[in-house]
Amino acid sequence: MKRVYNFSAGPSMLPEAVLRRAADEMLDYQGSGQSVMEMSHRSKVYEGIIGSAESLLREVMNIPDNYKVLFLQGGASSQFAMVPMNLMTKSGKADFVLTGQWATKAYKEAARYGEANVVASSKDQTFCYIPELDPATFTKDADYFHICMNNTIYGTRFTKLPETGDVPLVADISSCILSEPIDVSKFGVLYAGAQKNMGPAGLTVVIIREDLIGHAMDITPTMFNYQTHADNGSMFNTPPCYSIYISMLVLDWIKNTIGGLEEMKKLNEKKAGILYGYLDNSKMFRGTVVPKDRSLMNVPFVTDSDELNAKFVKEAEAAGFVNLKGHRSVGGMRASIYNAMPIEGVEKLVEFMKKFEEENA
Ligand code: PMP
Repeated sequence: MKRVYNFSAGPSMLPEAVLRRAADEMLDYQGSGQSVMEMSHRSKVYEGIIGSAESLLREVMNIPDNYKVLFLQGGASSQFAMVPMNLMTKSGKADFVLTGQWATKAYKEAARYGEANVVASSKDQTFCYIPELDPATFTKDADYFHICMNNTIYGTRFTKLPETGDVPLVADISSCILSEPIDVSKFGVLYAGAQKNMGPAGLTVVIIREDLIGHAMDITPTMFNYQTHADNGSMFNTPPCYSIYISMLVLDWIKNTIGGLEEMKKLNEKKAGILYGYLDNSKMFRGTVVPKDRSLMNVPFVTDSDELNAKFVKEAEAAGFVNLKGHRSVGGMRASIYNAMPIEGVEKLVEFMKKFEEENA
């Protein structure tokens, strides 16, 4: 068996210890005589799994008691509609910061349900920075204010939250969930697709302040109403059972092997520091993002030549560093270095880049 260093933006690497444990438990989960994939979601044994997943998430993220945790499906993309259907129901207005394609999709979808306002955008420079925000320009009576916390494609992240006062802040944290501590109490809603830092695709996590539940538009499909899932402990219908189970194992790994999100953050800063440090000194490669807004998770970089970029991606792949091709809208390369990417993966990638730089100078 030869495992590669996988720099995919998602689905992406999972901790090897988690995969090994899942393999051990594949045929017989803890003496139940069944795989988790086979068991009824209404069984006692599965109730234990979903219950542990929720309590571990609450513990690791320090989620206050007045927030519900919902395990849903439909990806973060469904939240682009679910958030407005449930929240845009008082003034019917919401504010958006356009920091990339996902933020823009959230804005466009909300505009189908109410008055969606753009308060700032970094589209003028291919989303390579997080725009400065002036609270005076925010809509005073907005039902929510939406940001995409970490911009997977462009490699930027918010390091300072907008001051929205009483307007609930809603954040897409798909590509940064569990990468560092986050003060949940500052948000009305947090949502994320699990397939980057938390588990396999198929699970979408929503963390929502309780008072924001129960105000959905009349047209809201039952499955799109947060109330439906909050009232039924994410068991209104069959949840994504296996993805929740793997997420439970990942959360256990973060808590017990890594030591929690403060430790996770230190490791992620170390990994990102190695890569950015090299990029800042290289004569061939350079990062595409304004340094102060650099993501810890997604690191886009380029050379000055498309041919050299293509040669690098090809040779890197042959050497066991896969999925380094950048998103088509940015070009070049992107290394996604989520929680499960070991530090050796980044060190070896940098060694490989140095060698490539020498050979192609
Ligand atoms: N938001 C962000 C920040 C993302 O990175 C992605 C997926 N790459 C999405 C939303 C869409 O997620 P999904 O595929 O789960 O709908």
